[in-house]
Amino acid sequence: MSDELTALITLAEQDKLIWEVQRKLRGIPVQLADSRKRLNAEQVLLDEVKIPWEQWDGEIREKESTIEIAQETITRFEEHMKAVTTQHEYMAARKQIDEARRLNVRLQDEIVESRVKQEELEPQLKEVQTRYDKVLEDYQVVEAEILKVQSGLEADIAGYEQAKSEVAGKVDSQSLKYYERLASSGKFPALVPTVAGICSGCNIALPPQDYNQLIANPARYKTCSHCTRMIYYEPPAPSEEEQEEESRSA
Ligand SMILES: [Zn+2]
Repeated sequence: MSDELTALITLAEQDKLIWEVQRKLRGIPVQLADSRKRLNAEQVLLDEVKIPWEQWDGEIREKESTIEIAQETITRFEEHMKAVTTQHEYMAARKQIDEARRLNVRLQDEIVESRVKQEELEPQLKEVQTRYDKVLEDYQVVEAEILKVQSGLEADIAGYEQAKSEVAGKVDSQSLKYYERLASSGKFPALVPTVAGICSGCNIALPPQDYNQLIANPARYKTCSHCTRMIYYEPPAPSEEEQEEESRSA
């Protein structure tokens, strides 16, 4: 077998390995999405409780700051009342203070109401939050494992590409171009052995003349007249008897 044919066979072997790894890589987003499903379902349950709870929380904070501002208004008008000289000014200040106090009482009541609702929801919130956290933790473990597998596969591909580039120099540039064109056009694998006169790419028998030429020149590849793949002659595997014979003589 020539160096070129050996190199081409190596290229084809590496491409087959790359193809298998790429197939596995394509499955990874599906695996990730599958393991996310349970987390997403828990997220929905959590949101159902957490969103209203947080909404009340926001409303409470808003009302508390309104109360604070109203309280400042009350203080300011109380100070002002000490300095007023007319009944009219006194009544106006009194009115402002009363309004601010009424507002505060209403807001305090509303805050109490929201807090009661929050308290009622609290055990449920705790329960779904705990469950969500556990599912998230499990998901993160699975995700890390999947991503580890993914980077392992990517490293494998880099290794196969490296092996390809090491032998590519031994292949004539025309042959290499032809090989790559076949591979990229979906003729995969682009280089195949012939098995008992049959192209193992398209499984169609070679014209006897072509097959005889292959046998006569086992160091060279030919192209399959049917599928255009590069084909080479691979001697049939020795039978068991022949293997025994060989091991005895070795
Ligand atoms: Zn063929």
